Amino acid sequence: MSEAKVRGSCLCGDVQYEIDGNLGIFQYCHCSRCRKFTGAAYGANLFTRPELFRWLSGEARISRYEPEDSKHFATCFCNRCGSSLPWLTKTAKTIVIPAGTLDDDPGLTPSQNIFCASGADWYRPVEELPQFDEMPPRK
Ligand SMILES: [Zn+2]
Ligand SMILES: [Zn+2]
Repeated sequence: MSEAKVRGSCLCGDVQYEIDGNLGIFQYCHCSRCRKFTGAAYGANLFTRPELFRWLSGEARISRYEPEDSKHFATCFCNRCGSSLPWLTKTAKTIVIPAGTLDDDPGLTPSQNIFCASGADWYRPVEELPQFDEMPPRK
């Protein structure tokens, strides 16, 4: 388990949080819930424990949504800017951190893809596509 303090925030900056470590699990999740929650091809999620997590600001801005049919899954988001935010699982044992909200390097990188069978039909691995440092040149 990593012990470094790592901070994160939403797009508008009202909500900020800090973690004192993580569980050493960092993965891409291709399930339909993560795709809806993030609006992206897959969620990039880092896991920590509730006692290693604290909100630093903006708690009043946070909304939570719990699908009725989920065992663990819920979501939290900033009700000003709509950013995904860390959420406590329904079982209250784990905090799932959408890694795109991190402002610091968490000290580990993703190690696996999960729920690939329910991934988007249109998904293509990023390394298969042309890469530009910024906007692509005009054609
Ligand atoms: Zn926000
Ligand atoms: Zn997922």
